[in-house]
Amino acid sequence: MKRTTGTDRSITRNWRPATQAVRAGTWRSDMGETSEAMFLTSGYSYEDAATPAARFAGEAAGMTYSRLQNPTVAMLDERIAIMEGAEACRTQASGMAAMTAALLCQLSAGDHIVAARAAFGSCRWLVDELLPRFGIEGTTIDSTDNAAWEAAIQSNTKVFFFETPANPTLDIVDLDHVCALAKAHGITTVVDNAFCTPVMQRPMEFGADVIAYSATKLMDGQGRVLAGAVCGSEEFINDKLLPFQRNTGPNLSPFNAWVVLKGLETLELRARRQCDNALKIGRFMEGRVPKILHPGLASHPRHDMAMRQMDMPGCIFSFVLDGGRAQAHALLDNLQLIDISNNIGDARSLMCHPASTTHHSVGPEKRAEMGVDEGMLRFNVGLEDADDLLEDIDRALRAIGL
Ligand SMILES: *Cc1c(COP(=O)(O)O)cnc(C)c1O
Repeated sequence: MKRTTGTDRSITRNWRPATQAVRAGTWRSDMGETSEAMFLTSGYSYEDAATPAARFAGEAAGMTYSRLQNPTVAMLDERIAIMEGAEACRTQASGMAAMTAALLCQLSAGDHIVAARAAFGSCRWLVDELLPRFGIEGTTIDSTDNAAWEAAIQSNTKVFFFETPANPTLDIVDLDHVCALAKAHGITTVVDNAFCTPVMQRPMEFGADVIAYSATKLMDGQGRVLAGAVCGSEEFINDKLLPFQRNTGPNLSPFNAWVVLKGLETLELRARRQCDNALKIGRFMEGRVPKILHPGLASHPRHDMAMRQMDMPGCIFSFVLDGGRAQAHALLDNLQLIDISNNIGDARSLMCHPASTTHHSVGPEKRAEMGVDEGMLRFNVGLEDADDLLEDIDRALRAIGL
């Protein structure tokens, strides 16, 4: 394998995001291929017995087993690390594998975590159900209330865990405030940045410690594979994450890593176009629906803060209809172009009813506390022509009397 300029951090660090997304982390085999090679191998063979002995002893670099290292996966790890501005990154089999690894690798029985109450359903399940089984207690708070973060800190608090914008309420967390508070108390911030990706928001620039991703979303961007990633300092990745990952095995397959490498090449382009479409549709729907939650609109309660933290307003927004679940389902059933689907970040426009899908398992009480209304719909705006999307929305709204 030969290095390219994409593997030299002194060079890639200075590239702009679109360049990093195409070239960072690329190694070439002796064939000189331009597109990254896919190494579908679980193991590696050696010239002699001393070679694996030196590698297993940590005295020589080189691959030993794909749960520990794989060339295609390593290219993606490096590309995401550079784009995030992180010292290191390790990809995972899915977004939830990434969240689970990022938390379990650093928490022990007796520790405490403060988490945002508005979160992806499975992220809430980790905090409410899984961690307590291992003696890790959690406090869930309104993440938009700066004072609530401080009030929830206990002497054994080790981690702050949140999404910004949150799924599906689009809550914006004050990154400057919450990350500084965590630092002052020796607490590690774990930010789920799935809605943004590094081309829209880099929470480390605001002092966040660990960034965890569902790369299933905008990074793949074409709805093909499940993938995840955890970014952090060399120390966090080497001392905390890697021992956990290497021994428990939530690794990303080389095939899926290759698909995400191809996805990243067009990430900046897709994100820009999808955000433009989302803002155009958001403006069209504002006033037409009773409530819209879009960080790019001035009506969002933390619009100014969102625009300070994010380079683009995001391609996902939610809106709330007065007629509850029945009216929300009726709108979905009147769509012709936009798919009823609970994925996000896809090039296709997708709409879903969180209360009956992604947030079904959290139950009605927690949904009410989080702000997941029965009439709420979440809209992932895709790459289609915005006018076709507007016509579809307009037709569906008229069909339900709006
Ligand atoms: C989708 C999503 C996840 C989970 O990711 P998977 O790749 O589906 O496992 C976690 N957090 C957020 C905010 C998400 O949108």
